Amino acid sequence: MEHVENDEQFQGLRVNKGISEQPTVNPYLNNFKKFKRKIYTVSEYVEGILKGDISLLGQAVTLIESSKPEHQAVAQEVIEKCLPYTGNSIRIGITGVPGAGKSTSIDSFGMQILKEGNKLAVLAIDPSSEVTKGSILGDKTRMERLSTQDNAFIRPSPSAGSLGGVARKTRETIILCEAAGFNRIIVETVGVGQSETAVHSMVDFFLLIQLAGTGDELQGIKRGIMEMADGIVINKADGNNIEKARLAQSHFQNALHLFPLPDSGWAPRVLTYSGYYDLGIEEVLGMIDEYIAFVKENGYFEHRRNSQSRYWMYETINEKLKSNFYNNQHIQKELKICENQVLDAKISSFAAANKVLDIYMKDLMK
Ligand code: GDP
Repeated sequence: MEHVENDEQFQGLRVNKGISEQPTVNPYLNNFKKFKRKIYTVSEYVEGILKGDISLLGQAVTLIESSKPEHQAVAQEVIEKCLPYTGNSIRIGITGVPGAGKSTSIDSFGMQILKEGNKLAVLAIDPSSEVTKGSILGDKTRMERLSTQDNAFIRPSPSAGSLGGVARKTRETIILCEAAGFNRIIVETVGVGQSETAVHSMVDFFLLIQLAGTGDELQGIKRGIMEMADGIVINKADGNNIEKARLAQSHFQNALHLFPLPDSGWAPRVLTYSGYYDLGIEEVLGMIDEYIAFVKENGYFEHRRNSQSRYWMYETINEKLKSNFYNNQHIQKELKICENQVLDAKISSFAAANKVLDIYMKDLMK
């Protein structure tokens, strides 16, 4: 093409001869996009998981987390098929308030666990992630060393729905991780609200991370959480903090003496350590190993897992019933009407509840 700008007399910019435009930057990109969206067959997922294929495991977990019925259907079948290959891990629950050092500690515990020749999955339960749109717990960036390890699988909290829903998804993820050969599972939760109960109901050992405070630290902890703990560890026992940590250790140990011996027959211990400086990590993990050996010996390990299975059966029924009820459009309409009648004092709360439930039952009979 002729360009006036290229004339000898023209003083302005020159225009160079162009080249034809490339069809696409990366000809493989489209294939890749298709590949990303692919849903495999149930047996492809199962075979991949049993072979320890982390990518397929991750994609199967995404199906568990999806709210789409077609994804759920595949996920449930995959779980069902993986079930015979599960149960062979040690499941550890870890809780502590934000800032207690959970991620720093899991990074250190995790590196030691891998050093001992294990495969570790780190999962999380954070019911608040729905509100914050993104979960901090179980986030890879918080576990710098662990996140680069081949034998570690880190997955943040599922972010959909109720605590029960989030917890069920994490429990189902444990099943897939175990089938993929992960023999150590850590489930992390933030030490506020009800999520500890959910984590407690899916682990073999429940570890409470505490900080040394001003001496009145015991007042801040709910009794229920202390009672659930199989071990309490005081983090940040380093530098000037060592003395304070030891003092806190004896406070907690004394407080634990006031509780009756748990059903496991194991008297919970209190240890101090430093997740950041890698001090006392082996002792904490040693305590967990000792506990596991103890409860396997006295039969409590089996007992706890059985009662957890029972618990999850009923939890799942409760959750399904509830969502079936509340997602029913007819019921949603009736609920609105009854709610207004209750607020106008035309009908009592109980009568309103019974009325809606009656309508639901009648709809079911149709
Ligand atoms: P999380 O919110 O419970 O996960 O706590 P983080 O692991 O994010 O830790 C909170 C802060 O405490 C960070 O600034 C860490 O560097 C610091 N920290 C964690 N563990 C230790 C420890 O053992 N010693 C000291 N001195 N600081 C720590």
